[in-house]
Amino acid sequence: MSSKPFASSADLAEKQETLEVLADGVYALTAEGDPNVGAVEGEDFLVCFEARATPVAAREWLGRLREHTDKPVRYLVLSHYHAVRVLGASAFDADAIVAHENTRALVAERGKQDWESELGRMPRLFKDPASIPGLTWPTLTFSDRLEIDLGGDRGQLLLQFCGRGHTEGDIVAFLPRTRVLFAGDLVETQAALYTGDAFHGDWSAGTLDRVAALGAEALVGGRGAVARGREAVDAAITQTRHFLQVMREQVGAVHRRGGTLKEAFDATHAALAPRYGSWPIFEHTLPFNVSRLWDELDGIERPRIWTAERDREVWDQLQR
Ligand SMILES: [Zn+2]
Repeated sequence: MSSKPFASSADLAEKQETLEVLADGVYALTAEGDPNVGAVEGEDFLVCFEARATPVAAREWLGRLREHTDKPVRYLVLSHYHAVRVLGASAFDADAIVAHENTRALVAERGKQDWESELGRMPRLFKDPASIPGLTWPTLTFSDRLEIDLGGDRGQLLLQFCGRGHTEGDIVAFLPRTRVLFAGDLVETQAALYTGDAFHGDWSAGTLDRVAALGAEALVGGRGAVARGREAVDAAITQTRHFLQVMREQVGAVHRRGGTLKEAFDATHAALAPRYGSWPIFEHTLPFNVSRLWDELDGIERPRIWTAERDREVWDQLQR
């Protein structure tokens, strides 16, 4: 038996949700480290960013948003394929569900397994899981960038692929006029990273360089508070990069000397915990993170598929 409860299965206390208006018609809902969501008003439509884990959870967010605007949702943008970001999509009645082409392929390849895995890891986020009608299929995909004209004098919303990172198909949403960036899980603001499906090398180098080059002045990360101001945005990106670099150093050193996965986990935990140990999902994600990075160092190009069974095996092996 593990001495620690599995993943976030014992994290059952509701989080305080905060809706912030970041600019005219630009909204973010943060929730003390639970997955963030956002929305941008066009002249006569809405773009929503991220869908939450279930339609019931999504409707709670839409209820808050409807206190500000009753425009219909034309685009639902999904930053990546993870279940807690996408399975609430049906609640939005969007004309188009927008994602990177790799995200659509990942839903086809591993969406079902990921659903079961994430439900087991984070049961609190799945409010009324029976309300999920099935997998969420993006209907509008792209490979590099896609611009949405917001109409009137509202400018553009730029959707951009910055390289492989948190997954093989993360995109960010950027408003050049107000310099607000929705970064998905590519950047976290005072929340631990999840890297179980990641490409640590790409993410910590060129991908984060491209995110930083956008020059955002407000950043909504995947989890955690909104970073406001250039200094706070840079700090969030730097923290994300540092977390990845410490993981690469620690796991890399044990891997090079022919040590074990458990030794790599213990070394990484010891190195990260003083700075990040109290942040949301740190204990939950670290076993999966180290396992994926170990695979990456073994030359396994694409992340292995997480299943509910494999989750438990890795947890029992490392997080005792
Ligand atoms: Zn994710």
